[in-house]
Amino acid sequence: MTAIDKNNDKSVDKRAFAAKDVQVKNEAGVVVVQWADSHMSTIPVERLRGWCPCAVCQGHEAGALKHVPNTCKAIFDAELVGRYAIHFKFADGHDTGIFRWEHLRKLDPAEAERWGPPESSLRF
Ligand SMILES: [Zn+2]
Repeated sequence: MTAIDKNNDKSVDKRAFAAKDVQVKNEAGVVVVQWADSHMSTIPVERLRGWCPCAVCQGHEAGALKHVPNTCKAIFDAELVGRYAIHFKFADGHDTGIFRWEHLRKLDPAEAERWGPPESSLRF
């Protein structure tokens, strides 16, 4: 086995973590993401806010992601961060959440079985 083989995990298509389009639909309280592997995710804003990976929400100690109870239904602003993430400004005033594509994809409720619970997502 070469070094390339060892470091190249083929079990997940990298396109699964490449967003082509992100639409905030506040009237429905969801964010719709079109992925490069053709999958489309519809993720409730409340779920995104609840699994915000930022240090304010998660603290600085290592460990599983914590869920932040909330009733947030809207996003005021969304801004791409380079080519790897998106920054959401939530309607409850929280504006430090940067969601890497991989984290965003793993929050798709329709794919909960594929990715496992958000708690198991790696800390950022
Ligand atoms: Zn946060």
